[in-house]
Amino acid sequence: MSIEICGVGKNFGNFVALDNIDLNIPTGELVALLGPSGCGKTTLLRIIAGMETADSGHVKFAGEEATHLHARERQVGFVFQHYALFRHMSVFENVAFGLRVKPKHERLLEAEIRRRVMDLLKLVQLDWLAERYPSQLSGGQRQRIALARALAVEPKVLLLDEPFGALDTKVRKELRRWLRRLHDEMHISSVFVTHDQEEALEVADRVVVMNQGRVEQIGTPDEVYSSPASPFVYQFLGNVNVFHSRVHGNWADVGRDVSAAPPDGEAMAFVRPHDIDIEHGPMTGGLEATVQDVHAIGPLVRVELAHASELIEVELTRERATVLNLAKGQQVWLKPRQVKVFAVPGSVLEEYGSGI
Ligand code: ATP
Repeated sequence: MSIEICGVGKNFGNFVALDNIDLNIPTGELVALLGPSGCGKTTLLRIIAGMETADSGHVKFAGEEATHLHARERQVGFVFQHYALFRHMSVFENVAFGLRVKPKHERLLEAEIRRRVMDLLKLVQLDWLAERYPSQLSGGQRQRIALARALAVEPKVLLLDEPFGALDTKVRKELRRWLRRLHDEMHISSVFVTHDQEEALEVADRVVVMNQGRVEQIGTPDEVYSSPASPFVYQFLGNVNVFHSRVHGNWADVGRDVSAAPPDGEAMAFVRPHDIDIEHGPMTGGLEATVQDVHAIGPLVRVELAHASELIEVELTRERATVLNLAKGQQVWLKPRQVKVFAVPGSVLEEYGSGI
């Protein structure tokens, strides 16, 4: 079922939690709401669920007005960060709950309920735990049961609020793949809230980057990562070096390959650490820098350098680092490959690819 959000606003007293949000989610899409704490992700999710009312704007499900529909009437499945399983019920009964509380005329026969619950437990590969109680499960198992429970009533929309937030990194990664697989198998539309960039980029079809109650950018993981629409998105999605720069005519003074026609003036140039190369010798337009530190981190080598008063981080492959054989205090030259310049305070000027 498609979800359409048009001009949704929400205030808590004088505080603007959501400011004129527009978002279209086609049927079958998995969308991540990504942003820092307090940016309004949960509030937006709760408005979609019908657990919170918007002050302005509309929510439509499958093109039909749903703004004032009660949560029960929205055919929505919900999974929270803290496994909201019923402690006094077995795993089986937890998953069956939504089916048992349906009005009598809609309720399935007991045999059908059993079949559906066991099918879902098999889907999350926990059918062998059907008789256990939530306290006898690991955190990851509880979240898989919470997912099975949300799916039992065959929702058209699955909403997840930081579903894996309380779990350790390895289990989180495993459950992300689960979520993706279940979403694809169930042919539903899913929206999940996260403040974890990697989670959003890995799982979602599209990412909605939010900041202070507004949408900063909506795009595929590749679009928001490779072509950030604002300094906020650039900095929120991964490590970045920010060079304080000036633009003169059609030239910004960060690296020799930067040339375009932004207006003259102060600018901020953003370069990801893996988009800078290091050379021993000087080069036209290259930035002179001094090596401060070199650390090997897994498959990469991170080099910290000082350029004027700025600290620059560069990530090299181990092979490149071996060739360079850098030492603390060494003088080198930096060559940015991919630079994006924003005018101060923040409108996009131009994106540059160096073609090096
Ligand atoms: P987090 O990642 O920390 O959960 P979030 O992006 O989900 O953050 P929301 O829970 O949507 O943020 O909250 C957005 C803002 O609205 C926050 O500043 C929060 O304090 C405020 N807020 C949320 N619910 C209420 C409420 N019921 N009354 C007053 N303020 C609220």
